[in-house]
Amino acid sequence: METLSPPFDLLVLGQGFAGSALALQAHWAGYRVGVVDDGQPQSASRLSSGLLNPIILRRRRMVDNALVRWETADAYYRKCEHLLGRPLFYREPVAELITTPEIDHAWTHLAERDAFQSLMEERTTSHSYQGLKSCRLGTVKASGRLDSPAYLHAVRSFFEEKGQFSGERCQHIGPAKDNTWVTDTGWSAPVVLLAQGYPAQLTESLFGSLEFLPARGEGLVVRLPYLQLDRPIHGSFFLIPLTNKPEQFLVGATFAWDAIDSPQPTSLGRATLIKWLESVLTPAALEGLEILDQWSGVRPTRQDREPVARWHPEKKGLGILNGMGSRGGLLAPSLALGLLQEGVRQGYLPSPLEPKGMTK
Ligand SMILES: Cc1cc2nc3c(=O)[nH]c(=O)nc-3n(C[C@H](O)[C@H](O)[C@H](O)COP(=O)(O)OP(=O)(O)OC[C@H]3O[C@@H](n4cnc5c(N)ncnc54)[C@H](O)[C@@H]3O)c2cc1C
Repeated sequence: METLSPPFDLLVLGQGFAGSALALQAHWAGYRVGVVDDGQPQSASRLSSGLLNPIILRRRRMVDNALVRWETADAYYRKCEHLLGRPLFYREPVAELITTPEIDHAWTHLAERDAFQSLMEERTTSHSYQGLKSCRLGTVKASGRLDSPAYLHAVRSFFEEKGQFSGERCQHIGPAKDNTWVTDTGWSAPVVLLAQGYPAQLTESLFGSLEFLPARGEGLVVRLPYLQLDRPIHGSFFLIPLTNKPEQFLVGATFAWDAIDSPQPTSLGRATLIKWLESVLTPAALEGLEILDQWSGVRPTRQDREPVARWHPEKKGLGILNGMGSRGGLLAPSLALGLLQEGVRQGYLPSPLEPKGMTK
């Protein structure tokens, strides 16, 4: 196979949350990076609500290494904003709806535990949001929202402008003579990082089954002219005010395990979300409710719910970042960084030229 590429140190296949965090952090470390992404409109990252929240409110626990995940993500997105020259990450803390004294007690009990103190406000508070039913709110201090479409677009443009982006679909990767990997689109490098999300046939042909148990999620964009809310709230679902779009809110996302390979918006998904809105908003706030959009996407969750960030044990220079489920925005920066650092330790990548560029 003929190779026409510029001399890359590494290729990143896929530019969702996983591939973007790999590509930018590798770039900051001084590597010559080529990015390949075919721009699937229904990819999880494009449809993501973009919430970064290290607390799993539903199950009253935190994600593994919550503080490191949050601090790394926060620093990474700040640096992206600086590099890409526009706001992308809004540090609007998520508020949990506290609807009963029992939930209030559970919140306080959790917030008093050592590890949770830096993530959550210790006490719940009353609110003055017009349109939100009477309840208390618990605040997750370590949380915020990424403008996912803007972030993905800005990262893509950054590599496009450098001539380091290919919008083609890559169907095959194979070894070439000079210890490099070569794609069927003609790009080559000694290292290829696979960040395909779900589905991932090419990755699975090289790494074996990723044991996906993908979860479909539906969401709505609604107009609620009489609701005043300046931060995301969470109950059974999320309600998120859209920055720069007055009166518009995201509602979602549901969980379902059917129709994974052709995810379409359903009347059940819509009814579930509207019913939840009716349970948390006053009748006055629901006046003039308009549904502007509905979508359905698939979270790349694995059976054991663990993400995969590792190097192939035999195929030297092949790495993978996938399986981040419903937390890709939060997990990708630290997992990507760990994978790159392990690549240096294994000798697949040279020592970074600008180590300061590798955020912690
Ligand atoms: C409805 C919904 C809501 C969500 N909300 C949140 C949230 O609030 N917060 C959060 O953190 N996470 C959320 N998630 C989860 C999050 O979106 C995922 O964890 C994350 O997007 C996974 O990123 P990824 O890069 O692994 O995969 P993807 O986003 O699927 O990216 C893979 C990329 O690779 C490209 N690609 C694949 N194969 C090829 C190929 N052969 N050649 C070229 N390009 C290829 C695709 O076009 C795509 O751009 C949500 C997910 C869904 C579905």
